Formats: sequence, C-alpha cells, structure tokens
Amino acid sequence: MKEQYDVLIIGGGAAGISAAKTLWLSGCRSIAIIEHKPSLGGILLQCAHTGFGAGLDGRDYAETLLMDFPKDIPCFCSTTVIRLFPDRSALLSNGHIIRFRLLILATGCREIPFGSLPVTGTRPSGAFTAGQMQEMINCHHYLPEGPAVILGSGDIGLIMAWQLLELGLKVTVVEKESHMTGLPVNRARLTGRDICFLPGTTILEIKGMPSLSGVTLSDGRFIPCRLLLSAVGLLPQRELLEGRKIPDWILPAGNCSHIHSRIESVIKEGASTAVKVLSLLDRAPSI
Ligand SMILES: Cc1cc2nc3c(=O)[nH]c(=O)nc-3n(C[C@H](O)[C@H](O)[C@H](O)COP(=O)(O)OP(=O)(O)OC[C@H]3O[C@@H](n4cnc5c(N)ncnc54)[C@H](O)[C@@H]3O)c2cc1C
Repeated sequence: MKEQYDVLIIGGGAAGISAAKTLWLSGCRSIAIIEHKPSLGGILLQCAHTGFGAGLDGRDYAETLLMDFPKDIPCFCSTTVIRLFPDRSALLSNGHIIRFRLLILATGCREIPFGSLPVTGTRPSGAFTAGQMQEMINCHHYLPEGPAVILGSGDIGLIMAWQLLELGLKVTVVEKESHMTGLPVNRARLTGRDICFLPGTTILEIKGMPSLSGVTLSDGRFIPCRLLLSAVGLLPQRELLEGRKIPDWILPAGNCSHIHSRIESVIKEGASTAVKVLSLLDRAPSI
C-alpha cells in the first residue's frame, strides 16, 4: 500500500468500480480503492433476485462488471476508512494513513433501523433491517424462522417478501400508503403469491423481550411474528463527513450521492464522477 494517490476511492460497489475503471481507461494510474468487505461488488453481492441488466441477479451482474476490471488497480479489501481529515488524508482500519488529491466517496447507503423510527415497545432479537437479513440469508446462508412482518412495501421490502416466501415463511407486509410502493417489477414478483398485505397502517409497538413476539399496528391489530424487518427507506452513507458540508475535493457517487433504484444509473454516475475528477485533477493541489 502506497502512502499517497492522486485519487482515492472509498467503496468498491458498482459506483466505485465504475469510477475506477473510467479513471484507469483514461490513463489515470495513481488511484486506489478501499473496500470494507472482503471483495468488490458492494450491495450487488447480497442480491439473489433478478432485475439487474438483462435478467441477471446481483451476484452475476457483479461478476460481469468485474470481468474487465483492470487487475493492476490497487484494491484494498477488508479495510475500512475510519476517518477523513481536512488535509486530504484518510485513516484506515489497519492504521495506515493515505494522502490523496481528490476523493471519490462511493460508500453506498444505510438503512433506517427500528431504533430510529417512532415505534414504541421493545427492541428484541428478531428485529432487523431488510438489508441486514438479505445479507445474512444470501451471503451467510442463515435460515430465518417465521412468521415474518415487513414494515414498508418499497423495493427492498418487496424483494425480501419474495425471498422469505421462497424460503417457505408466512409473510405480512405493513404499509402506511394505500398501495405497494415498490417498482412494478418487484410488485409483479408477488403476483399470485400467498402474502398478507396490510395497506393504510403502520407499526406502533414492538412486543417481546428478549425474543420478538409480535407487533401492534396503528389500527389496533396484534400480528404475532418471530421475524420483523424494517424496509422504510435508505439514506446516503456519509458518516465519514461527520456532518460537515461536502468540500470540493470530495465527490460522492452512487447511493452515497443520492439513492438510485437502478444499477444502470449507478454505473453512469460512477463514470461521470470519474470524468469530473479528471477535469479537476490539474487544479488540485499536489500532495
Ligand atoms: C437491496 C437493494 C436491491 C436492489 N435491487 C436492484 C435491482 O433489482 N435492479 C437494479 O437495477 N438495481 C437495484 N438496486 C440498485 C443498485 O443496484 C444499487 O443502488 C447499487 O448497486 C449501489 O451501488 P453503490 O456502489 O452506490 O453502493 P454499494 O453497492 O452499497 O457499495 C458501497 C460500498 O462501500 C463500502 N464502504 C462503505 N463505507 C466504507 C468505508 N468507510 N470504508 C471502506 N468501504 C466502505 C461498502 O462495504 C460497500 O461495498 C438495489 C439496491 C438495493 C439497496
């Protein structure tokens, strides 16, 4: 690992991969990717559903994306950036400090857990975010037990409803709107499936401790469950900025910039961010 690069990319998901490829193909050789997980791919690696490109699932799409990835781009996986400093340096989990001229922040998004929602009651084992459960099932072969309740019928809620049905669980989806809010492709996955959809209501209280026993809805009903997933939205993952305004030497890309529902727009934004970085490099102070 060198001590300095012209461009540092934090996050090796679709946006980071796309940005790195574009920079490299444009002749920029002083770049590196830092990725928290053991391999590149980001959220794609936990997506077992089809819907990426031409009928691929997330893992196949990641494989395709990495097929022509230049092998000489330094990628430091299983390494986390834990702090950014105003002098354009980053502290890594392995203790190294890397200096850079420009930074592409491609750290993806985070989910909203029950702890952040106006839901009373307990926070027992059995309550997760939808993405956490998706990773546990698809990457770590965890087999959850039902019945399951999912709060939110956006894309991730519907994808997880489909996946839990495939595993044979009884699934209830609770949604405050009057209709399912996810993309048509994700609603279509559930057509004809034995799912309980409860529109126009929300979860008021979680019950059970230490294990989940069920939830009370805003219409007073109690739904017994052993698994509860929150799927109520995603927020750009920008904790590294520690609440500061984004300085002009940091360029966010992918879900870290704004939440994208299609992979194509993430790839496009990764590439366009790289082009912007190339145009800024001449003027960026040397290290
Ligand atoms: C659950 C889900 C399902 C989706 N399904 C579809 C679909 O069916 N079809 C479709 O076209 N699109 C889908 N999308 C949209 C699209 O695929 C994703 O938005 C896209 O893959 C996100 O790429 P990204 O690079 O922005 O973020 P991510 O893939 O999340 O990558 C961010 C990376 O940054 C790393 N990271 C974060 N912080 C640090 C740090 N401090 N140090 C080092 N590394 C760090 C993370 O480990 C992660 O690997 C889905 C999105 C989600 C969330």
